[in-house]
Amino acid sequence: MWSVARRGWIVYALANEVVALTLTVASLVTHQVGHEDLRWFTVLLVLGVGQAEMSRRIERMRRWMGGQTHINVTSVWLVAGAVLLTPGWVSLLAALLYLHLWARVWRHVRSRPAHRVVASTAFIMLSSFAASYAVRAFGPGDLADVDHSSVQGTVVVLLAAGVFELVNLVIVATGIFLYTRERSVTDLLGTGADNALELVTLCLGGLVALALVYQPALALLVFPPLVMLHRNVLLKQLEVAAATDDKTGLFNTLGWRDLASRELARAQRSQSTCGVLMVDLDHFKRVNDTYGHLAGDSVLKAVGELLRAEVRDYDVVGRFGGEEFAVLLPDITEQDSVAIAERIRTAVTQLEVGVEIEDDRVATISGLSVSIGVAVCPDSGTAIERLLLAADTALYKAKNDGRNTVVSVGASM
Ligand code: GH3
Ligand code: MG
Ligand code: MG
Repeated sequence: MWSVARRGWIVYALANEVVALTLTVASLVTHQVGHEDLRWFTVLLVLGVGQAEMSRRIERMRRWMGGQTHINVTSVWLVAGAVLLTPGWVSLLAALLYLHLWARVWRHVRSRPAHRVVASTAFIMLSSFAASYAVRAFGPGDLADVDHSSVQGTVVVLLAAGVFELVNLVIVATGIFLYTRERSVTDLLGTGADNALELVTLCLGGLVALALVYQPALALLVFPPLVMLHRNVLLKQLEVAAATDDKTGLFNTLGWRDLASRELARAQRSQSTCGVLMVDLDHFKRVNDTYGHLAGDSVLKAVGELLRAEVRDYDVVGRFGGEEFAVLLPDITEQDSVAIAERIRTAVTQLEVGVEIEDDRVATISGLSVSIGVAVCPDSGTAIERLLLAADTALYKAKNDGRNTVVSVGASM
């Protein structure tokens, strides 16, 4: 943690850990251990551990796929816990469920260093603690004690779920900001799909609590939907991964074609023109031969970032395997497509990529260049295949013209 993390994060993580631990111990020590607490605690721990064991493989794959994975289905047991348990007990439940997940799943996934797991555990302990505390301090109190025929039970469940989610969002978003300095809403708060999953787990948590109080055995009904839900989230992640080139984070051929054909269909409907660029690194083999394959990969990544930075947000940038990239530029004339291609070509000549070579030495690779073929729709065709073929022909001409050039289909005809 000392060597990799920013100071702001370290202070924040440690502060959360100290507060979570102190509050939990204080609450456990000051509250008389109730018969109810022990019973619900054991039941929820068994359910939570059982569910985690059942979906170990799904969770492990989800982690392997990377991305924002701070959301998991543990909230089901913790929201139920916030309703049924005093703050110290639900916080302890959170800690044990996370400890179990760490031992059985996360420990085997390298992208998650231990210090982040400890911090996440503190975050989730605090969220659970706050939810249970809110129910008892501001709400009607324990679900088992409230008047069943009134709306109090509903209030307890909604209050617990709401406070749990709110506190969790704030603590986690602050943590992510301090750790990564990311400012985008999706990075801080998670994607729509993440939050949909979270919402479903909160709902299920409320229902589990009600089931446990009124018909304990019915709590088991939560397992099938929970497993399906978990699996669906993995499917969504797989879908994204199937369209992404993992070396550069750009679209891969499949993802690019999919999005590009949709953009082309739209262009046809609105009778607008669009451009396609085929970008190929010049003499890339030499980079590999001189600096090694890993250095070559860093160059590919840097060129990918450069392409993304040089075009508009809604332009579609993909890597077509090897050292070839394709860019679709919607709503643009041939002249502007060529201007953008020229801008990319110039930027690549100025690109400097620091790479690690043997013995931890660092080398700077510069003097790179690209050749670019430009085609426009509808002049060169309206189908993606035709456009790619046209751009590729122009690219071939650019290579023959001595490389480090832009050739447009219009000009090459
Ligand atoms: P040209 O100017 O004609 O395009 O020459 P070139 O060397 O760039 O083209 P060529 O097609 O002969 O070679 C492409 C090279 O790209 C060969 C291969 O080693 C390298 N390459 C392809 N994919 C990758 C990759 O994922 N990583 C790395 N490091 N190199 C790759
Ligand atoms: Mg090449
Ligand atoms: Mg090539």
